[in-house]
Amino acid sequence: MRPVVEITALRKSFGTNEVLKGIDLKVESGEVIAIIGKSGSGKSTLLRCINGLETFQDGALTVDGKPLLHDSPGAMRELRQRVGMIFQSFNLFPHLSVGRNIMLAPTLVKKKNAEEAVQLAKKLLDRVGLAEKFDAMPEQLSGGQQQRVAIARALAMEPAVLLCDEITSALDPELVGEVLRVVESLAEEGMTLLMVTHEMSFARKVSDRVIFMHQGRVHEMGTPQALFGAPETPELKQFLSSLH
Ligand code: ADP
Ligand code: MG
Repeated sequence: MRPVVEITALRKSFGTNEVLKGIDLKVESGEVIAIIGKSGSGKSTLLRCINGLETFQDGALTVDGKPLLHDSPGAMRELRQRVGMIFQSFNLFPHLSVGRNIMLAPTLVKKKNAEEAVQLAKKLLDRVGLAEKFDAMPEQLSGGQQQRVAIARALAMEPAVLLCDEITSALDPELVGEVLRVVESLAEEGMTLLMVTHEMSFARKVSDRVIFMHQGRVHEMGTPQALFGAPETPELKQFLSSLH
């Protein structure tokens, strides 16, 4: 089976600052990968390259076998439909109801009619445990609820892979669990997930593979048992001991 995401020798610089120094990564369908590492190690930039938010200087990147071509607007549009991304900040449209936030892309991009889009939004809200919030405005929801709506909105495009960039980092501690439970249920349902997280016990529990990034490289990669239980490099040992 062909990988959902395939990254080969990816290099990315901002000016003279090389931030990704040759990344190779294959993500198989249904795989859950946690990306860990110090601030500034390139985690967000890697995710942003995968969904086309950043260009890169060298290497290749394919999603569903299709190469990411920055000079082809049609290919980029198609790519963005196949890659869902959720950020630390919830980024809901504040002037639209929860239901309309979710309906927007299916209506505009997938040309679903209003009735289909409503049904889809209701189904997805139910999936993230917010069935009763269809008509609520984002500001009426807690941060955890808003983030769950953001997940539902990303799922509405039926992405081949969902990228999560520290999606619980901006939440009050008591709201983290409800968001992680939704992510865990997606993982159990077979969603392909690539998530940058500081929640190490969650990464250990849910992921199939963990990637430790250090200075723009995949410094260690392996099962959660291997990376957390028997880290090999001094850099990973130091990173893990800095967490507690
Ligand atoms: P992480 O997510 O692991 O904290 P980032 O991918 O955000 O790391 O950043 C990696 C490096 O790239 C950092 O040195 C950061 O300053 C730099 N960087 C990130 N985004 C930009 C940008 N838009 N312009 C210039 N430098 C950037
Ligand atoms: Mg980051």
